[in-house]
Amino acid sequence: MPLVSRWELISVVPCLADTAKIRVTAQLDAELDEVLPYLNAVLKRAVFNPRPPSLTTNRGGMCFSLRARRIAGAKLRDLDHAREELEWWMALINDTWERRASLAPSYERGQQLSAIQVFKGLPATNCKACGESTCLAFAAKLLTEKASVLACAPLFTPEWREKRLALLDLLEGAGYPIPPEFLA
Ligand code: SF4
Repeated sequence: MPLVSRWELISVVPCLADTAKIRVTAQLDAELDEVLPYLNAVLKRAVFNPRPPSLTTNRGGMCFSLRARRIAGAKLRDLDHAREELEWWMALINDTWERRASLAPSYERGQQLSAIQVFKGLPATNCKACGESTCLAFAAKLLTEKASVLACAPLFTPEWREKRLALLDLLEGAGYPIPPEFLA
């Protein structure tokens, strides 16, 4: 019996950094927690987070994030493309689940974002408005989810729009939660 039998699209919105492309979220009829370590073993260059279990990976220039009962995909051309990719994921999930007895699950976290990568997406003025003494310190807190990107108020002014979009795209691609107001 397949792990996932049904899925449905529950959200379709423009990509943060490239509005010509779309981001989608699909709701599945099964939890992915148990299959994620096996998918992590099968996929190359995935980033696995154990708590709560989530997996993020790039595929052909697109970015996918799997957690709980959801798959989110970004940088997709259109709805047909999204459905095609989601079917590919369902087949991979079910095939991996079926073969799990012959696979060694991997709990390796994979390549994580660095504080420098995040820092490059911040205004780099060290203005302290976020409560940190430097932008680099704030970047480190973002990475450990001890701070919300919203705390960097300057980033959300028109002056830093390009950096903001690029940083949100970077964080989303690495599986970090994005404030819901930027997903609609
Ligand atoms: S509010 Fe933003 S720009 Fe100012 S120090 Fe914090 S991270 Fe840097």
